[in-house]
Amino acid sequence: MADIVLKNVRKSFGTVDVIKGVDLEAKHGEFVVFVGPSGCGKSTLLRMICGLERITSGQILLDGEDMSEVEASDRGTAMVFQSYALYPHMTVAENMSFSLRMAKVDKAEIKRRVDQAANILQIQHLLDRKPKEMSGGQRQRVAIGRAIVRQPKVFLFDEPLSNLDAELRVQMRVELSKLHNEIGATMVYVTHDQVEAMTMADRIVVLRDGLVEQIGSPLELYSKPNNRFVAGFIGSPQ
Ligand code: ADP
Ligand code: MG
Repeated sequence: MADIVLKNVRKSFGTVDVIKGVDLEAKHGEFVVFVGPSGCGKSTLLRMICGLERITSGQILLDGEDMSEVEASDRGTAMVFQSYALYPHMTVAENMSFSLRMAKVDKAEIKRRVDQAANILQIQHLLDRKPKEMSGGQRQRVAIGRAIVRQPKVFLFDEPLSNLDAELRVQMRVELSKLHNEIGATMVYVTHDQVEAMTMADRIVVLRDGLVEQIGSPLELYSKPNNRFVAGFIGSPQ
């Protein structure tokens, strides 16, 4: 588990300012959800936290440690993408163990972690399959499993359920909340689904055009939205 602190974080691509000064604190074990319109910078923020993207200015701290010079692989974060991003030629077990094999983790330990994650996600029977032999929901479980085996302090989810059908989304939502309770890691979760945000979040961060509009518990945002924009996303009808 880690806490995450963002201090006046900015990001520009060329002359375009995409993140315009974001301050944020996520506590140990907190489930924080980012919502906001397409293009407001949700994915860019996640990518900067896990180190796939450099920040232009400001500071990101994980457990109090400045991440500016820390490689993505050394940050103790793991990201789950909407597109699953599985290796098509590898089996489920190979996909899940890949990063551990790269990190030269002991074979018995790899097997133990893969079995444990497969158990949590109920994909024990799929370990020898290739991604193309599975449904979207099963693939997304594998993508989550691949993050779990790394035992990250921080999980980052970028719209992980938006490719799934409605019924499966509801089921996975419940399972992800359960996972969060079981392993207790800090989780930052991006979604454009209001119900997902309301049901899963300890706190919701509403983003708009590279800035934070409001941060609060689902109840706070619902009952006291700062403005019409926030209300439009999660607030009560005004
Ligand atoms: P969201 O995830 O909220 O939809 P993104 O973080 O993907 O938004 O993108 C925020 C803005 O940054 C968008 O305008 C997008 O076009 C721009 N952007 C993202 N990545 C790059 C990049 N590598 N180069 C240039 N512009 C980018
Ligand atoms: Mg995005």
